[in-house]
Amino acid sequence: MCGKSAKVRHLHLVLGDQLDRDSALFEGFDPAQDAVWMAEVVGEATHVWSHKLRLAFFFSAMRHFREVVEASGRRVLYTRMEVDGSRDRGASLAEVLDLDLTGTGASRLVVVRPGDYRVLDQLIDLAQVRGVPLEIREDSHFYDLPEGFRDWAAGRKTLVLETYYREMRRRHGILLETNGKPVGGEWNYDGDNRESFGRKGPPADLPQVMPIEPDAVTREVIEMVNRRFADHPGHLECFDLPVSRNDALKWLNQFIDERLPHFGDFQDALWSGQRFLYHSRLSALLNVKLLHPREVVAAVVAAWEAGRAPLNSVEGFVRQVIGWREYVRGIYWLRMPDYLDLNFLEAKADLPSFFWDGKTEMACLADAMENVLNHGYAHHIQRLMVLGLFAQLFGVRPRAFHEWHLAMYLDAIDWVSAPNTIGMSHYADGGVVGTKPYCASGNYINRMSNHCAGCRFDPGKSVGEDACPFTTLYWAFLDRNRGKLKGNQRMAFQMKNLERKNEDEMAGIRARAREVREVLQG
Ligand code: SF4
Repeated sequence: MCGKSAKVRHLHLVLGDQLDRDSALFEGFDPAQDAVWMAEVVGEATHVWSHKLRLAFFFSAMRHFREVVEASGRRVLYTRMEVDGSRDRGASLAEVLDLDLTGTGASRLVVVRPGDYRVLDQLIDLAQVRGVPLEIREDSHFYDLPEGFRDWAAGRKTLVLETYYREMRRRHGILLETNGKPVGGEWNYDGDNRESFGRKGPPADLPQVMPIEPDAVTREVIEMVNRRFADHPGHLECFDLPVSRNDALKWLNQFIDERLPHFGDFQDALWSGQRFLYHSRLSALLNVKLLHPREVVAAVVAAWEAGRAPLNSVEGFVRQVIGWREYVRGIYWLRMPDYLDLNFLEAKADLPSFFWDGKTEMACLADAMENVLNHGYAHHIQRLMVLGLFAQLFGVRPRAFHEWHLAMYLDAIDWVSAPNTIGMSHYADGGVVGTKPYCASGNYINRMSNHCAGCRFDPGKSVGEDACPFTTLYWAFLDRNRGKLKGNQRMAFQMKNLERKNEDEMAGIRARAREVREVLQG
């Protein structure tokens, strides 16, 4: 750590997902008296069993950001993670910060609202113990504030995403005619965004995401992570990520030029071996704040205005950023800390081991896991309708799935992970985020992809040795949750189909579901 003995007036804390050079954190910063504080700590690296790529991405982006802050004339107190743990200054953020409070004599802590309730709790506790004021500033990296969402939610029986999204469009004047109506006449073009690639598959000239070559800083981090966190999941052989703002902007521009035009049409498509299709891969850059959502939305809308991208692509992308991203953050701060322990469907299973090593005969899951292990990434339909769907049907405990999500995806911060897993994929909040469980059989995956053609299982079968585990577990899921789902109008069609199955069929499905569980749980 540099400069630990020098006296400091205020410590301004930059957390690993707050790498925003224009952050509200720097307001009132006096370079003559104040210091920026950053720390790589083992507690943050191991509180979930983090993917190696996630660790290297965060540490490298933090070290690059430190250079940016120092170049702006601000002093930075930076604690590095070293290969040799014997030199660790503390196990947690609070322990290291405690040492630096003592070393610097700082009389105030300033932080932008963390993206994790657990971290906020640690900082509040430490400030109380040390008797130092903690100033928490709101994160200007979002369109809405937690209080704004709370006001919107107050008095509503249901928190419908679409309603919130339209409100955000109106509030921020995005994709609106001068009379306040949505451009093109519709608020939502989701119906146009469900094409599959058919038999031919994606075009041969599908644009690929521009790889960013690791520089010396990143290479040093990769070496450290490979040695210190050797037993963590994933690997670093495919590290191709931006860790600086300049490189993040290159990815934004390339997405807009090459993939945005087809993003909408194929938003829900899956194809074996195609990692990113037309998806942006910008979420991690947004969530560590190397890109600002307002600049991303402005660039996407400008592409439509210039005739370089169709409205269904642009509206679909804007909805993800100002609709879904803001909505899940609002839900998080509205419902924490209890949200993490919700379990409406009383799911009890542990995660099957293939969620960590990708070893499975199920072709769709093996393909999605290859993406996760190579890139810390899966596009939204792989997440929701392959990995999330399987975890839900299998009955994985929602919190265990949330912690897996947090460990394995580059873009997962607690605020984004919890509503996406506990709410969206597990329906564990009983209908706050989604009005019904997103459950489907293997037939859905067969319709949207080419995976089933190369799989040893048959998506149309629910019993027998070659029955698709998704299909077996789908019926077992409906059967197991009859009591909780039968009153849900949006599940009426699926529950009616379940009722059509006779007792013999159900006995066969239950027996096959038990076999699948035994195999996957060892
Ligand atoms: Fe996945 Fe089932 Fe299709 Fe195999 S048959 S790829 S397990 S959906």
